[in-house]
Amino acid sequence: MASNINIQKKCEWCGKLFIAHKISTRYCSRRCANLAYKVKTRQKRISEFQTMINQQIEKKDCIDKDFFTPSEAAKYIGISRTTFYRYLETNLIKSVQLKRKTIIRKRDIEALFDNASPYKKHLPRAKQSITDFYTTAEVKEKYGVKDSRIFHIAKEHNISRTFHCGKTYCSKKHIDDYFAKKAHDPEIKEWYSTQDMQEKFSMTLTAIYSFVSKNAIPKKKVGIMVYYSKKHVDIAKGLIAPEEPKYYTFQP
Ligand SMILES: [Zn+2]
Repeated sequence: MASNINIQKKCEWCGKLFIAHKISTRYCSRRCANLAYKVKTRQKRISEFQTMINQQIEKKDCIDKDFFTPSEAAKYIGISRTTFYRYLETNLIKSVQLKRKTIIRKRDIEALFDNASPYKKHLPRAKQSITDFYTTAEVKEKYGVKDSRIFHIAKEHNISRTFHCGKTYCSKKHIDDYFAKKAHDPEIKEWYSTQDMQEKFSMTLTAIYSFVSKNAIPKKKVGIMVYYSKKHVDIAKGLIAPEEPKYYTFQP
């Protein structure tokens, strides 16, 4: 850019006085500018190298130590400080708090591996609030089943479970669906065959299947025939009023 300003400046590289046409000009010539640039890049490389060496020394110091601060311990196992503090809070990793200092013994970190449980694949947990869960006691009361059976059902059908304060909670929807399908309810005395439903409600087979699945109608199989609880179908169709629920609602 052509400029008509003339400023007398001192070259930052050779110290010669020169006339600059821009305020930002720092060197008298291209040569001086290049030399200054080379030195600057070299210094940057040296400082980067020094930082790397320092980190290595720090890490080595860390390994040689028997006791760590939380930051050192986090660095030692290669996790973030925040994650490490979470492990401390849940007592996954032992620590000793001395007034304002928290100390971790290297041996305790290593000891975690001695009694480590086998690797388990993390199953994605359904995002549900705790109100969408039954406690085992609730499942027992509602469906009259034993603990071992609930455990078995949950495991076999991969029903999402969560553990909180020493209690097991099972997904309400999945438990209800399971028992609805099972229809072990001895109170169900009357049943519709698919043919009955086709005639009574003028429904196609496809419509029936989607209807019973959507409304979780209890069903039973006799040979190749499938029957659906008359009472539940009639309630879902709005022909009769639903009964009051026999079970209580869980208050967290
Ligand atoms: Zn110069």
